[in-house]
Amino acid sequence: MKAILITKEDDVYETNLTDISEDQLPEGNVTVKVDYSTLNYKDGLAITGKSPVVRKFPLVPGIDLAGTVETSSHADYKAGDQVVLNGWGVGEVHSGGLAEKARVNGDWLVPLPDAFTPKQAMAIGTAGYTSMLCVMALEQQGVTPDKGEILVTGAAGGVGSVAISILAKLGYTVIASTGRPNEAEYLKSLGASDIIDRAELSSPGRPLGKERWAGAVDTVGSHTLANICAGIKYGGAIAACGLAQGMDLPASVAPFILRGIILNGVDSVYCPRNKRMQAWARLATDLDISHIELITNEISLSEAIPAAKELLEGNIRGRTVVNVNA
Ligand code: NDP
Repeated sequence: MKAILITKEDDVYETNLTDISEDQLPEGNVTVKVDYSTLNYKDGLAITGKSPVVRKFPLVPGIDLAGTVETSSHADYKAGDQVVLNGWGVGEVHSGGLAEKARVNGDWLVPLPDAFTPKQAMAIGTAGYTSMLCVMALEQQGVTPDKGEILVTGAAGGVGSVAISILAKLGYTVIASTGRPNEAEYLKSLGASDIIDRAELSSPGRPLGKERWAGAVDTVGSHTLANICAGIKYGGAIAACGLAQGMDLPASVAPFILRGIILNGVDSVYCPRNKRMQAWARLATDLDISHIELITNEISLSEAIPAAKELLEGNIRGRTVVNVNA
């Protein structure tokens, strides 16, 4: 079967489209015939080797997959069941979705929600499911639509695009921060009310600034996140999930101790199963399904390696679905 395979021998890191046999798949109690996978930022890092995301070699990347169970000795799944997988170290330490088949632990799977086709579920993927977790975090911290505007950073990327769509459908006023002003119309079509240039937030700033936003979904980290903290209104909250600018956080405690703001970290990889199920159920109701098409671009498995480089260079808009059988 066809697969993307990452190898590292004598410190030489290589990613190739190749043929592998089922014997090369790792241990697991469910074998899935994959219909679609996706490209997330983390897949870009894995495929290019730009960050040490992959910690076991050889490995099939792909932190997401949607497909049909082929064989199963797991009590919850039988042949023919349609399933989705996001995270759990798949595509990092256990071979993942960028192949025609995957063998995984059944505990990592969730049933494909009735609302979505496998392709739509992958258009959402880890990025979209993380957006939902971010919105749920803001809700949990009491950020309701009447409190004020919500900032979404990395707006034209995968997490950002889906977050805008969900927030707008829920009645929030969304401000999109992007480095791609030419995507303003796209961002507005997803529900953004206004656009700001990400350069406004990316340099070192003051510890405390004007109170601008009731909440934020931040995919960028570094100075951007520090400046967001400084601009969050009294009692507001930030759902922080990403590091597209950097992993550092050069911030001050001022907004925390003077305005009582909350910095809520969001992790999708080891998020417990009940919260995942809740997030997927919420996506079925709170994401405008017509936006999925607008957000998504489909590629074949053979296009995944060059597309990963483009993704890291910030040249890909929204979500990229990979048809592993094309
Ligand atoms: P994408 O590559 O699709 O989007 C990232 C976006 O970030 C880009 O489109 C760009 O948006 C913006 N960006 C890129 N470089 C910079 C920079 N130097 N400074 C400021 N903004 C920048 O990635 P995803 O949406 O898939 O992921 C976004 C982030 O969230 C990543 O860091 C990823 O690792 C993280 N993530 C974390 C998860 C978790 O579980 N915590 C799960 C999923 C993702 P624009 O062009 O609009 O400026």
